[in-house]
Amino acid sequence: MIHYSCDRCRCKLASDDLRYVVKIEIQAAMDPACEQEPDEDRDHLVEIEGILDSTADECEDEIGEDIYQRRRFDLCPQCYRKFVGNPLGREAKPALGFSKN
Ligand SMILES: [Zn+2]
Repeated sequence: MIHYSCDRCRCKLASDDLRYVVKIEIQAAMDPACEQEPDEDRDHLVEIEGILDSTADECEDEIGEDIYQRRRFDLCPQCYRKFVGNPLGREAKPALGFSKN
């Protein structure tokens, strides 16, 4: 018998309890500079192809958890309502309007 627990408040959730599954996909938005392969000026690029080969490997090494990750959370109904009300965990402050900097 599988028992779930809320990932936020750690309360136990019975299998027949209402349970919310939150799936978060985080992806860094960046220009694919490593994958660019311009067709123009190709003859010129061939001359420095050897130099570019070494730098291309470094670009691939940078792909890690900072670039892409998927998370999954089980939430009880109470925590679900708190989550959807403030999914980014912003501090609950009364709206004071825009301050002039
Ligand atoms: Zn909870």
